[in-house]
Amino acid sequence: MRKAGVVLVIVFLMAAGCRESSDVHRRTQYLMGTVVTITVAGLAEEDASRAMSAAFEEIRRLEGVLTFFSEESDLGRINAAAGAREVLVSAETIEVLAEALRISDRSGGAFDATIGPLVSLWGFEVKDRFVPPKEEIERARTLVNWRNMSVDPNLRTVRLERKGMKVDLGGIAKGYAADRAAETLRKHGVSSAMVAVAGDIRAVGEKAPGVAWHVGIQHPREPGAVLGSLRIADRSVSTSGDYERYFIKDGIRYHHILNPATGRPAAASRSATVLAPTTILSDALSTAAFVLGPEKGIGLVQSFPGVEAVIVDREGRVHVTPGLAGKVEGLAS
Ligand code: ADP
Ligand code: MG
Repeated sequence: MRKAGVVLVIVFLMAAGCRESSDVHRRTQYLMGTVVTITVAGLAEEDASRAMSAAFEEIRRLEGVLTFFSEESDLGRINAAAGAREVLVSAETIEVLAEALRISDRSGGAFDATIGPLVSLWGFEVKDRFVPPKEEIERARTLVNWRNMSVDPNLRTVRLERKGMKVDLGGIAKGYAADRAAETLRKHGVSSAMVAVAGDIRAVGEKAPGVAWHVGIQHPREPGAVLGSLRIADRSVSTSGDYERYFIKDGIRYHHILNPATGRPAAASRSATVLAPTTILSDALSTAAFVLGPEKGIGLVQSFPGVEAVIVDREGRVHVTPGLAGKVEGLAS
């Protein structure tokens, strides 16, 4: 009798274990210039697969609309018409640009989607990296100003006031794509999933009933190590750091998140992680908070309902919003 009980318990555990592993499905694709991983739980293989394919397809479609690297994309057409005329664009582009303008305004211009001329000048995409001459930084900087971009949601038009201006959505488009992919998954019957477009992550529901998704925050100076981790359900988290794309010259680290006020890589932080209700918001705010640094960055995120942050400052000290105090697991105090 007792023996049978033990056997039963073991079989039950095995079954539970099998079910856990067989209904968690994960796939990775290279999209938007980065690694996109989608995890779906609680569905049979075939249904999960169909949902993931549709979500990847949605990200691929958005990439075509929002990419900086094509003349035919909405963004390519907006940039080509700078200083000349307004351009008719898709509803998605209007949505992203309107949110970009809102965050530019709220962050006092620390986030600025018209950062394009500076991004091109610093050229973090090319192999031969060098620090641009001061005059060129100054010239590019005068073209960067979100106030010179007009977005008309009714007419669905966008206009850049000055010739040479360029919109770059590197600080917000991946987050938007994660939101849309999550929406696509839900439409396909998924209620438990995680979408990670590089460091822009959206959790759909919980991993399992009563079990939140577990997300690690990359340590900004120890590759492969985590600074701490967070539990999230139906929420987004984004990290902006100076360790992803950078070069070091004469002992100075030059990275891809630029301070529009100086035209140079922002120097106040090593990384900024933001939790928010949507990924478009966590993405844009992580870039803004990174540029602003711990004091102003924490102040900014606290002015948004339901938004929290973990900022590692230039000396490696960790700052968290009061709402997250004690909630970042494994964080050395
Ligand atoms: P990542 O792209 O590594 O996820 P971010 O979300 O912080 O990191 O975005 C950085 C990208 O955003 C840069 O590669 C550039 O395209 C763009 N960018 C750089 N500085 C700014 C800024 N101050 N405001 C808005 N976008 C920026
Ligand atoms: Mg960002």
